Amino acid sequence: MTTSGTPVFDGHNDTLLDLLRADRGGGRSFFERGDAGHVDLPRAREGDFAGGLFAVFVPNEDLDYEWEETDEGRRMPLAPAVAHDRAKEFTYDALALLYRLEAQSDGALRVVGNADDLEAAVAEEGTVAAVPHLEGAEAVAPDRSNLDFLYAAGVRSVGLVWSRPNEFGHGVPFEYPGTPDTGPGLTDAGRDLVRACNDRGILVDLAHLNAAGFRDVAEISSAPLVVSHAGVHELCPTSRNLTDDQLDAVADSGGVVGITFAVTSLREDGRKETDTPISTLVDHVEYVADRVGVDHVALGSDFDGATILDSVGDVTGLPDVVAELRNRGFDAHEIRKIARGNWLRVIRETWE
Ligand code: ZN
Repeated sequence: MTTSGTPVFDGHNDTLLDLLRADRGGGRSFFERGDAGHVDLPRAREGDFAGGLFAVFVPNEDLDYEWEETDEGRRMPLAPAVAHDRAKEFTYDALALLYRLEAQSDGALRVVGNADDLEAAVAEEGTVAAVPHLEGAEAVAPDRSNLDFLYAAGVRSVGLVWSRPNEFGHGVPFEYPGTPDTGPGLTDAGRDLVRACNDRGILVDLAHLNAAGFRDVAEISSAPLVVSHAGVHELCPTSRNLTDDQLDAVADSGGVVGITFAVTSLREDGRKETDTPISTLVDHVEYVADRVGVDHVALGSDFDGATILDSVGDVTGLPDVVAELRNRGFDAHEIRKIARGNWLRVIRETWE
């Protein structure tokens, strides 16, 4: 594996969950090179992973998130809501872990909360920039009484929902084939949360939101629309992917879509089949670039959160993704935008 010399800022990983939960990550260390999971510091350096949104995801208790076969494809039963108190406790633990890792890292892992620090960390070789992100806003009190506390704890990006309902909106159930048009839009609390995030310069992530909720955010939000990890519905018709109308809305707002590496969101057949070439992933990048412009597409791997392509394998496969972008005719300037520039632009615009 040769290094690409192309630092990547990535829209989504669940590495904190893997490290926090030994039942998932096997008790692995962030600082030792391992085979388990997708991201640790040595592998991140090898793959030119310069940073990303580090998600805090609160798993449902005693739920395996298994797909079930249907006549036409597959679906996952919609997960039930998780309680605010449990989400809050789990989220505080995950944020505490992130700061512990930062303290142990000798400057190699940097939790960043403003655009200058983010860009400096991304530019510094060997440093990983972490932007704390909530994947689902269950840890935010419905009256937002702890939102400033979460901001003070570093949270700079909030996904309103995961694929389950909460106080703020309705997540889209996983289904293939399926459509994101699956239920009602944001609740009043959800609308207020979008405005409160706008006021504080917190990124609002539309990943996992259903179509009505997406439309609501597009209408309310004064910030560029961001979808941290998803694919193109036209190429893989799963409920989690973005329709052409949604891609257009993201671009109209000046926003960005991070293309996921999850095979179930990339493959035309939606199957959990990891023997999938990188060209399938780059098909999604190219589709978005062709339709709405190269300024609105980036990467959102879902490392440590999804079953990804074997052809990428883990974070050390990022240079191979960059190489495939080059093969497909993207020039150096465009590759820089896809690899990090678009994320950095949208984050600066939102945070400031
Ligand atoms: Zn996700």
